[in-house]
Amino acid sequence: MENSGYVSFLEIWYVIMMGAAFLFVAGGIIVYIAHKLKASSIKDFKGKHDYLNQFEIKNYKTSYLFFGIALGCLMTTYGDETVAKSIAWFFVRLFIAGSAGTLFGYVASLIVTYYYPGKLQKKLDYLRYTPRTNTKTGNKMKLLSEEEEDVHLDEGMQAEEDVFSVDYDVWIDEATGDTKIEKYAGYMEALKCGTCGFQTLKIAREEIVVPATNETDGELLKHYECSYCGSRRTTAHKIIKSESPVPSQIHQAMEVETAPVPSKQMIRLQFYDNSGINKSYEFQGVDQVKKFLEEYERDNS
Ligand SMILES: [Zn+2]
Repeated sequence: MENSGYVSFLEIWYVIMMGAAFLFVAGGIIVYIAHKLKASSIKDFKGKHDYLNQFEIKNYKTSYLFFGIALGCLMTTYGDETVAKSIAWFFVRLFIAGSAGTLFGYVASLIVTYYYPGKLQKKLDYLRYTPRTNTKTGNKMKLLSEEEEDVHLDEGMQAEEDVFSVDYDVWIDEATGDTKIEKYAGYMEALKCGTCGFQTLKIAREEIVVPATNETDGELLKHYECSYCGSRRTTAHKIIKSESPVPSQIHQAMEVETAPVPSKQMIRLQFYDNSGINKSYEFQGVDQVKKFLEEYERDNS
């Protein structure tokens, strides 16, 4: 038969694709199990919080990516009797398998990107607010409020909290006065200052030195100032030619609600924008919310 070469190619293809599908399924499962094992091996609440915060979504995405590839490989082995009739069918099958694998990966990554963070946040909150134990005395510790904690933070730390780049939690053993300070990422971005080392370097203003035209690139200067030690630095950035400035289209709705969180009344701010991403921030008092909104406005104006 003239197409016996094609048929034996299909047989080899089948073996290779089945093998690949098996390997990718195994890979996906290994990534998932390794992640769970690593997470459960970290006993410290803060350590586990940071690990999950950094890796959980990444690892789930990798795992789903492997399953998506496995699905695609598996589908390229389906319906060999029909495919053997004409080489055209081979490409049709390849296309469908590729699409199905991509669709699976896409849907899974949408879920991990949009739905999962809410679930993860609950886990992270639990790990962050579960009362700590003083390792020296075995006593349960108490989380101080924003007002109470300031005396335990040095000025640089307070400056970081003031620009919301870092959030410190101070736990105290009321019997002995021992404290435990934990550092969390804040809501706003600030760079680490090269002079004082605190995360308090923020953009003070931006300056277009050379405007971009349709033919030539422009230049933008970003002036940074450290809100703690006052040191400044400037970076130059290229404005790509013909890149028309995008009008700010983000419409933000804001909702303020108070939600009971373990042992404390918190104020939750939620932002919704056109892309459907919603961010929520928690604060311990109205003053903090006011300060945050001022910072937020400055950053987004
Ligand atoms: Zn500084």
